[in-house]
Amino acid sequence: MTADVIDGRAFAATLRARVGAAVKGLKKNHGLTPGLAVVLVGADPASEVYVRNKGVATREAGMNSFEFKMPGDVSQDALLAQVYALNEDPSVHGILVQFPVPEHIDQSRVIEAIDPNKDVDGLHPVNAGHLMGGNGLLVPCTPLGCVKLIKNHLKDLSGKRALVLGRSALVGKPLGLLLLNENCTVTLAHSRTLDLADECRRADILVAAVGRPHFVQGDWIKPGAVVIDVGINRVPAPEKGAGKTRLVGDVDYVPACERAAAITPVPGGVGPMTIACLLANTLTAACTQAKLPVPKV
Ligand code: NAP
Repeated sequence: MTADVIDGRAFAATLRARVGAAVKGLKKNHGLTPGLAVVLVGADPASEVYVRNKGVATREAGMNSFEFKMPGDVSQDALLAQVYALNEDPSVHGILVQFPVPEHIDQSRVIEAIDPNKDVDGLHPVNAGHLMGGNGLLVPCTPLGCVKLIKNHLKDLSGKRALVLGRSALVGKPLGLLLLNENCTVTLAHSRTLDLADECRRADILVAAVGRPHFVQGDWIKPGAVVIDVGINRVPAPEKGAGKTRLVGDVDYVPACERAAAITPVPGGVGPMTIACLLANTLTAACTQAKLPVPKV
């Protein structure tokens, strides 16, 4: 078997275009331009790239993009004050604080300071609770992107055995709930899981969110499974020249392609979906705050 490659880049482009069309309609019919504010603390080069890319995508979708850069030694109170100010700003419909933040900042307090209606990262306990109740409106972007890719490929997920490898609050746990809401039979696996390979071999849908390069072996994959690789790992690439690196996922891609029915590549799979879903969440947040129906994108 040679797996179909799930083209996250192409799917994300169509999702961004649908969001852009909905934004156009909002502006024309209601004079409303959604606004997304991103707060970056410190000067981590990878985070700076993410924030820049988010700004470009936000503007391309016709939304307002606001960026707030704060020094790495900013106090927790000053950061919280910035979040509270954005909560009160009517031109800002979505707030995203780029994580990780420096160690002296309590990440949970930052998340809890964000107005749940503007929490486009979907991490606030109120939104996590809605997701738990089966009616999440603002859902974490990466898991949302994964489910959109899976549904686009499989259509009906009901009754499928899904294994999510990883249980972080950002990816694994919300993804497990989303798949449960799609009537999958869900297993959440983690570093204490026994017989991990056997657990994986039972999965019709296997999602890897571990953060370890090529961790999932080809023979862990059930023949015909759909494999979603969330991992983004930078590894040395001497073939590209001295000191060069490349990105790989958590799945050993080439052998996995021999068994899976469909698989996301890294890069070009889940990654582009994250920003597209952030835009979709910002649209949702803007409509909800304006008490308008949320367009289906
Ligand atoms: P994380 O918070 O570090 O969580 C990693 C999870 O993997 C944990 O639940 C951990 O288990 C589990 N794990 C670690 N080693 C394991 C092992 N040997 N066996 C089984 N499970 C193991 O990471 P994350 O934030 O969820 O991110 C995971 C990956 O996705 C990273 O590569 C990250 O860069 C990537 N990511 C990509 C996107 C995107 O847009 N594509 C977005 C977010 C994250 P324990 O809980 O037991 O420690």
